[in-house]
Amino acid sequence: MIFKLYLSATGYITKALIIGGGVAGPTAAMALARVGIESEVFERDHQGADQRGAWISLQANGIDALRSIDADGPLAGVGYPMDTISFVNGKGRPLGRMPMAARRPDGLTSLMMPRSALYSALADEARARGVRVRNGARFVDATVDDDGVTAEFADGTRARGDILIGADGIHSTVRALIDPGARSPRYVPVLNIGGHVPGLAVEGEPRDFRMQFGTRCFFAWMPTPDGGTVWFANPPSRTEPERGVLSGIDDAQWRRRLHALMDGDAGPSGAIIDAAPGPLFGWATYDLPVVEHWHDGRGRMVLIGDAAHATSPAAGQGAAMSLEDAVILAQCLRDRPTTAEAFGTFEILRRERTEKIVAAGHRASNSKAAGPVARLFRDLMLPFVFRRAAKDGGRSMMWLQGHHIDFDEPVPSAPDSAPARLGGGRQRG
Ligand SMILES: Cc1cc2nc3c(=O)[nH]c(=O)nc-3n(C[C@H](O)[C@H](O)[C@H](O)COP(=O)(O)OP(=O)(O)OC[C@H]3O[C@@H](n4cnc5c(N)ncnc54)[C@H](O)[C@@H]3O)c2cc1C
Repeated sequence: MIFKLYLSATGYITKALIIGGGVAGPTAAMALARVGIESEVFERDHQGADQRGAWISLQANGIDALRSIDADGPLAGVGYPMDTISFVNGKGRPLGRMPMAARRPDGLTSLMMPRSALYSALADEARARGVRVRNGARFVDATVDDDGVTAEFADGTRARGDILIGADGIHSTVRALIDPGARSPRYVPVLNIGGHVPGLAVEGEPRDFRMQFGTRCFFAWMPTPDGGTVWFANPPSRTEPERGVLSGIDDAQWRRRLHALMDGDAGPSGAIIDAAPGPLFGWATYDLPVVEHWHDGRGRMVLIGDAAHATSPAAGQGAAMSLEDAVILAQCLRDRPTTAEAFGTFEILRRERTEKIVAAGHRASNSKAAGPVARLFRDLMLPFVFRRAAKDGGRSMMWLQGHHIDFDEPVPSAPDSAPARLGGGRQRG
């Protein structure tokens, strides 16, 4: 690999330290390698550790971001394609159907996959491209000086680089250094639980995720081509569960609770809850609406992905936003004369789009936890919303899933120009 010299705020960049080996971290390393910047990824968890259990939908714009740096290959054979989402109410009455990325000229669609499979695919691909990914390295602090930045880890080791990228997720330690006044992640009033049930074929169309606004709980399922079913549920929980409460709920309690929540609703939820491989495990849900400072102003430290703007899972966009960030940051470092300018441009290109998505995710999560009156109103309104979306053939979703990055294209020189407002890339369709 040939590494180039880029001017930083006060010198030349030869090395980036990337904190976090989730979605954004390894992708940023691969994107930086393409513009000639070497990087090393530091991940707190040990390799193969999988506390992420959940399945996620990686939407087309996220796959597009990976494709822009020729890194979508490892996704071949991972997960199941999903082209539409259809909504029903508790009685099973259809409320509408939403095409995912119907208007993309490249035919990219969403993929449902275990979150752990996405993590492994990205870290393995980064390693295969020569990136050093250090597992078991818990970042605790950083010191910035005129010549660079020194990262410190819990085991007492240090690393030196020219810039440090915080890709360490929603509970970011790097964020606390860049923006000590940043608000804590916001609790969203639904829990998350789900997975894949092999060998259980349920009603539903292939490549269509059926989502049910049940009487007491949101429940979703999609038959998979191997004769199984992917599912998730969002039990409402008005108040944030205290630490340890969710991990203290055992498998049998989860099943009883889910059955009680879905009791009387039409559809296959009961069979799915019975057949789901255990132990079942639930997560609390959070988002992070506005982080005032994404970088340190000195051109040394910057945040990407959930560390800068986490959306609730209801948006189905957290991973895709992180992938877009990773690639667009590398473009900014390539095209701006200093790292301080690159980070500034990156923030201008990304803030509006990502905050809009966080807000949309929050609205979607709240609608899943609606009380009886709000539920009535929601069920009356949703068919109109979906009918409009169906009528325009998915055009209204294109700002989300139609986003396209041409990696070789320079980032706009006037950061407030039109493509910038779309978020660095361009909308297709
Ligand atoms: C239940 C659930 C369902 C979801 N569903 C979807 C979905 O359907 N679609 C979607 O797009 N997104 C979904 N998301 C969100 C998605 O997983 C995140 O948006 C995405 O993973 C963010 O990527 P990231 O790289 O910024 O952060 P992460 O993927 O969280 O990666 C951060 C990494 O940093 C590491 N780390 C943290 N602190 C340190 C430290 N101090 N030192 C070193 N390493 C550290 C962590 O171990 C982790 O590996 C879901 C999330 C959850 C919880």
